[in-house]
Amino acid sequence: MSIKTILKKLDFMSECRKYGLGFWQCPNSLFLVMGIIIIVAMILTYFIGIRFVEPEAVIIIVCSVTVILLIIGHSLVNSFTRIAEANRMKSEFVSIVSHQLRTPLSALKWSLDLLRSKRLGDINDKEMEYLDIINESGNKMIKLVNDLLNVSRIEQGRLLMQMKAFSTEDLIEDIVKELRMLAESCNVEIKFKRNKEIPSVYADPDKIRMVVLNLIDNAIKYSKKGEGWVKIQTEKYLKDKKMILVTVTDNGLGIPDILKKQVFGKFFRGENLVRQKVEGTGLGLFIAKGIIKMSGGDMGFESEVNKGSMFWFTLPIANKVKKAVNKGR
Ligand code: ADP
Repeated sequence: MSIKTILKKLDFMSECRKYGLGFWQCPNSLFLVMGIIIIVAMILTYFIGIRFVEPEAVIIIVCSVTVILLIIGHSLVNSFTRIAEANRMKSEFVSIVSHQLRTPLSALKWSLDLLRSKRLGDINDKEMEYLDIINESGNKMIKLVNDLLNVSRIEQGRLLMQMKAFSTEDLIEDIVKELRMLAESCNVEIKFKRNKEIPSVYADPDKIRMVVLNLIDNAIKYSKKGEGWVKIQTEKYLKDKKMILVTVTDNGLGIPDILKKQVFGKFFRGENLVRQKVEGTGLGLFIAKGIIKMSGGDMGFESEVNKGSMFWFTLPIANKVKKAVNKGR
């Protein structure tokens, strides 16, 4: 560990300032103070213990130290409660704002669709061009608002899941068809071959659709221009026969090791890719992992810069879930 890293770790006050907490409210400093008090108290008790043999003196010291530690512990709990409360209020704020934005945005989109359909009157090419620009921006705003709503629902554990048995093969085939145009425009080849051995899974098909769409969309967006490919594969998860495994592999730009820990975080966008001017919000993978976890599966990835990435997720097989439910009855 370099001196710079040690100094950075010791500079916990800047971390406290970031959260707007003073020295006596900041968990980091309180933790340090508590540690110092415990060490000093132990040494003092030892020396007093060997100098004054009276047990009353030792009891008084131990009781006083316990009271001090209880007071500091109380401050620590208060600080954590304040941070948790601020976090809850922030999620609630995002949820309310997103809800409030959704209605006017839907109205805007509806009116725009009506105008563009020319049912209200003819529109010349120039006007249509502007309406298309407004439409595209509107779609981006609707996607952002929906993403923010999904993020706050996942954080509060309120994402509604309509679970049923369905075929991942049908779902992936549908999405591949939908994305083929986008892939061709980016010069990326999409490879997917149905695997007849894959049984139905038990999850919410609309939510899993969002997950697969996001993974393939990312693989296309972050591909190497002109020589890209994306391969989607499904197989029975060998380690655990109750699950299936879906992988989305690309030969794109990859993710540097230093950024790997943050990939599933909220609003994360790889610095190496932001420079490429690829649009995105950094919410897709956070939502995708949340959905997969709520479906009883798991999600991860492997990646190497300039070689490509492989994102994977698992989902429970439908008849295994039913059997487990029947056994439980
Ligand atoms: P967005 O794509 O909107 O930025 P995501 O949450 O889907 O948000 O992805 C977060 C970040 O992870 C991306 O900005 C990018 O840096 C990185 N990433 C995701 N998928 C890939 C991929 N297939 N190849 C390289 N980087 C990726």
